[in-house]
Amino acid sequence: MALEMRDVCERCETAKLPWDAAARICSYECTFCVPCGEAMGEVCPNCGGELVARPTRAPQQAGGAVHGVCRVLRYVAGGMP
Ligand SMILES: [Zn+2]
Ligand SMILES: [Zn+2]
Repeated sequence: MALEMRDVCERCETAKLPWDAAARICSYECTFCVPCGEAMGEVCPNCGGELVARPTRAPQQAGGAVHGVCRVLRYVAGGMP
């Protein structure tokens, strides 16, 4: 079975967790809503792993960061004209 991003909380099974929503996830991709994560002490009940903030897709932010780095590198490498 391919890795599957769940879109509902595994604990309460009612909280919707779309990509842009804040969520908690463990290293085995057990996914929970933030209130459940806090209620469980940020520990996954399935595997005992630590729950961390689930990364969200932010291509615009990432692209901006990369371009910013490129600009700095070009400035440093270019030096005096
Ligand atoms: Zn929940
Ligand atoms: Zn887990």
